[in-house]
Amino acid sequence: MSERREIDDWRAASLREARKRAEAFSYLHARRALLSWFDAHGRRFPWRDEPTPYRVWISEIMLQQTTTQTALGYFERFLSRFPTPEELANATEEEVLSLWEGLGYYRRARALRNAAIVMKERFNSRAPETYEDVLALPGVGRYCAGAIMSFGFDRRYPILEANTRRLHARTLALDVDPTQSEAEELLWQVAEKWLPRESSKRPANLYRKLNGALTDLGRLVCQPGVPKCDECPISRYCHARMLGVQESIPVLKKKDKPLPRTDVSFWISRRDLPTSNVLAAPDRPELPTDVLLMRQPPWALWAGLWDFPRLEVVDPAFQKGQAWRRDPELADRLALFLETEVGAPAKRYWPGPALKVFRHSVTRYRITLSLCRLQDAAPTNGSVMPPTLFDELEPEPRVTPSVPERLAPSAATLRLEGKPLSLEWRWVPIADLKNYPLSSPGRKIATFIEERLRKEE
Ligand code: SF4
Repeated sequence: MSERREIDDWRAASLREARKRAEAFSYLHARRALLSWFDAHGRRFPWRDEPTPYRVWISEIMLQQTTTQTALGYFERFLSRFPTPEELANATEEEVLSLWEGLGYYRRARALRNAAIVMKERFNSRAPETYEDVLALPGVGRYCAGAIMSFGFDRRYPILEANTRRLHARTLALDVDPTQSEAEELLWQVAEKWLPRESSKRPANLYRKLNGALTDLGRLVCQPGVPKCDECPISRYCHARMLGVQESIPVLKKKDKPLPRTDVSFWISRRDLPTSNVLAAPDRPELPTDVLLMRQPPWALWAGLWDFPRLEVVDPAFQKGQAWRRDPELADRLALFLETEVGAPAKRYWPGPALKVFRHSVTRYRITLSLCRLQDAAPTNGSVMPPTLFDELEPEPRVTPSVPERLAPSAATLRLEGKPLSLEWRWVPIADLKNYPLSSPGRKIATFIEERLRKEE
């Protein structure tokens, strides 16, 4: 028998065994024990204390990829600014992103606003009340729809997320990857079996409490690594505990290694680019320290947020700005960037050595980001012209070809590959940076610049 076949047979046998355990499980008794544990140990959250569907929905979207502790501060601020779906639907994307800044995964904020618009247009600015309508909202998946229905409306819908997945996998001693589709489907069925059928005699809030209790038990007691089985109210029903295998369940698949990436961001100040005119703000000539921001395009990381102009660098040797002199192609691309996008005659400008190197992890990338300040290289005292970034370009004046043609030979050096370079740009006064929804690295750079300018004053 081939090795592959053996693994498949073993997985099928494990699932069969777990299914039998799920059928025979003492849900009635385990449920009672769980509920009395929850009364004494359940966590208190504002979305649990006042569980309207709207508040539950906001909390559930925030809690995706974010710890409860972090979400708590954002939740209150968000709700006081947008207390109803209508107010959220009427806000601009920029306002919503501003309140979301620092939470990461910004598509969640955009989805919230889009879903609020759907609620306004189709449901009289209220959360929809059927599972199908909730599931159809932007940004809402199977877990989130179940959470809104059970926590928000106290209806019989199961939930399955990291804590309950681990808990159910252990109670069944399921020794295959619980995220694999058949195993996951089994765990959804188990999550539903924990909820008794609808009946007129059921106590109020039963489904809210049961789903909350399962989540809290998974989070507080049946924790990752070594679970606290001695404190567990359902330990006598747990198959992993009986078999002594609780620490090896759930079986986790290996995580992908993060991809290293090197970026360079530019601090471009109007004071430093006196000849730039394309983006000059005629109504604010008195603010020469304005910095140039670009809005990240929809295909980029931090889509929709503002950021300092940034390029991805292919040369892994790039450190502290020195690679500019060794990498004329990269210099060429920066020249193109400045001339076509900033309107600055690139040959005058020199991005000095990196002022600061930031490290940042986002999605699957581990980013090393160097910040360079672009400065006017023209001599002010009539002496010899200092070397600039662009000295290695052709000495003759050149006509800037069209963007796609110029990018074509090695477009991979820019993250703008195949996309038009016309992005959204703004000169922003330093004092206004705090009001802009910035990417996380953009915020770090803004803080660095503010401190640096304070020292220079
Ligand atoms: S007995 Fe241990 S492994 Fe089983 S559910 Fe409780 S905490 Fe988890």
